[in-house]
Amino acid sequence: MKVQYKAKRNLLQTILQVEILQGLALTLRKLFSRPITRQYPDEKPPMYAGFRGQHALVRDPLTNASKCIGCMRCATVCPSRCIHIKTHPGDSGQRLIDQYAIDVLRCVFCGYCVEVCPVGAITMTEVFEYASYDREAIYFDQEILLANWDRFLEQTGYDDTYVNPFWRPRGTLESRLAAAMRRDVPADWTIEGQFVGTKVRQPPASKPITDTEAAHA
Ligand code: SF4
Ligand code: SF4
Repeated sequence: MKVQYKAKRNLLQTILQVEILQGLALTLRKLFSRPITRQYPDEKPPMYAGFRGQHALVRDPLTNASKCIGCMRCATVCPSRCIHIKTHPGDSGQRLIDQYAIDVLRCVFCGYCVEVCPVGAITMTEVFEYASYDREAIYFDQEILLANWDRFLEQTGYDDTYVNPFWRPRGTLESRLAAAMRRDVPADWTIEGQFVGTKVRQPPASKPITDTEAAHA
């Protein structure tokens, strides 16, 4: 193994302490260069549409209750088994929800629960600041999940017309969407707007959108 020794300094370099001068010069240079870090939390990062943040249960504007119909699809598809739902049958055969909770500390933020929900009842908001020292505070029950939705609308200014990109995955034919997902979308909700995770929301070049899909988006 070759051992790399530090180059010897001559007398002049020792007297002038050139390494210190080099360090100061670097500091001075960086003082006037563009910062690559952000002064968080004073300076917040921009949020991308479809960011997989804090879970919320969407409130039905007609009933003011959760839109959830207790179909269990989200709990079934969840790879972490962290969605806990208990229901009982109602008078007309519908499922009434006794418990809906998400153990977020076990969640891997895959978004499957949002994608599979037939009525758009569960979403992952673009809120990422909800760290806590208390484990219980990260176990979201139905009330907390509804409150998360209210707070998300309040913080962002969205209203009931909010559409999460996971509810209408890019390129999915409208005929393939559940009836509740075939909803009017905002005028700026384009094919590009449906692409999750990039600021400009360009569809990947490797998967072009067909004219038929574009017509249905
Ligand atoms: S995001 Fe994925 S892991 Fe988290 S609750 Fe939903 S399905 Fe489960
Ligand atoms: S998939 Fe949607 S409607 Fe079904 S239980 Fe989950 S949140 Fe409720």
